[in-house]
Amino acid sequence: MSTSSKKNVGFISLGCPKALVDSERILTQLKLDGYEIVPTYEDAEVVVVNTCGFIDSAKQESLDAIGEAISENGKVIVTGCMGKGNDAEVIKELHPKVLSVTGPAAYEEVVGAVHEFVPHTPVHDPYTDLVPPQGVKLTPRHYAYLKISEGCNHRCSFCIIPAMRGDLVSRPIGDVMSEAEGLVRAGVRELLVISQDTSAYGIDVKYRTGFWNGRPLKTRMQALCEALGELGVWVRLHYVYPYPHVDNVIPLMAEGKILPYLDIPFQHGSPSVLKRMKRPAAAEKSLERIARWREICPDITLRSTFIVGFPGETEQDFEVLLDFLQEAQLDRVGCFQYSPVAGAAANDLPDAVPEEVKQERWERFMALQQQISADKLQAKIGSEIDILIDAVDEQGAIGRSTADAPEIDGKVYLNGATDLQPGDMVRAPVTGADEYDLWAG
Ligand code: SF4
Repeated sequence: MSTSSKKNVGFISLGCPKALVDSERILTQLKLDGYEIVPTYEDAEVVVVNTCGFIDSAKQESLDAIGEAISENGKVIVTGCMGKGNDAEVIKELHPKVLSVTGPAAYEEVVGAVHEFVPHTPVHDPYTDLVPPQGVKLTPRHYAYLKISEGCNHRCSFCIIPAMRGDLVSRPIGDVMSEAEGLVRAGVRELLVISQDTSAYGIDVKYRTGFWNGRPLKTRMQALCEALGELGVWVRLHYVYPYPHVDNVIPLMAEGKILPYLDIPFQHGSPSVLKRMKRPAAAEKSLERIARWREICPDITLRSTFIVGFPGETEQDFEVLLDFLQEAQLDRVGCFQYSPVAGAAANDLPDAVPEEVKQERWERFMALQQQISADKLQAKIGSEIDILIDAVDEQGAIGRSTADAPEIDGKVYLNGATDLQPGDMVRAPVTGADEYDLWAG
């Protein structure tokens, strides 16, 4: 999402811990949508009041808060326990200027109202966004993205993120964990850890010790994974680089604490291309590392992305990449043809690859990977898998296995399973497969 022109939202949260959970969920989504949460009426373009309707004094406090927000700011969205039944009518009568009134846990409606009254169309930018384009929509409430840092210390030659967002700034681990806990309390069953470089978490603060529920925790990927692993939900790691210390989190995957899934953007397999790309961990022996991870956790799913046709990529470089792909046997792979991004250092590199060569390499790459992916999925037929249900229609349920991140990986179809709900977790044998998706039931 574009964060260049952030829109400001004020937020007043009243009431019990359950209301607070709703507030956290709404705030997380607003921040992901590119809104900034501000502490003063003055700076806010709209104010959300999450009310409490438990007892009369709480109701009065809520009504007072709404009145104050209207007189100080003017644009007010009301939600929470007072937003249903008779109480909702009382609010509308007393404060007719209120823009919208909804009840508790109305995340989608509240976020929708903010978008309506303070329009902010986040433009998906494939060069800088962490969340896939579909994620710009409201994430279904059973999974959520957990952003652990902003910015990046690397300087990959094709990327403009460091220029736009600056160097790495890790969020305090206590804040990240509290947000994660809040999301889980609000019904989230899968947390997707995102950042520009998840393996670098904490480097900027020298792995400072933070606190979560009074317990000391290092600002470090391993400590974060251990703590997240205690929350009892799926934890999926995105944007990890193959540094040696990543080996330390693989046992957590083997023990079932976090999902056996790593999203590692390798981008290429040829050392000379990686060098020109200035990729982090380019000197690491990625294939050896992968073999080691599979030794520790044989079920690990590896997802990656690659770029073909980077300036100076020779036929020999490309063949090295195909060999890498063949040997790495990655489960999920995306491939892009290189295209220059305004402002990126790679634009000055010589030996641009002609468009038709890029296309031809892309096709060869995809043909090989499709075969690998199809074979890997075929091998799953007959095995039992856990499936998190994303959607249900009249034909059945559609979910994902531990090997599938939402929006970017495959799906699992459960034909006829119309009695399930989004967010349900089921276990079923795999009955069929194609290049990307599975059928189970
Ligand atoms: S690691 Fe490279 S590609 Fe990723 S954000 Fe940093 S500079 Fe950009």
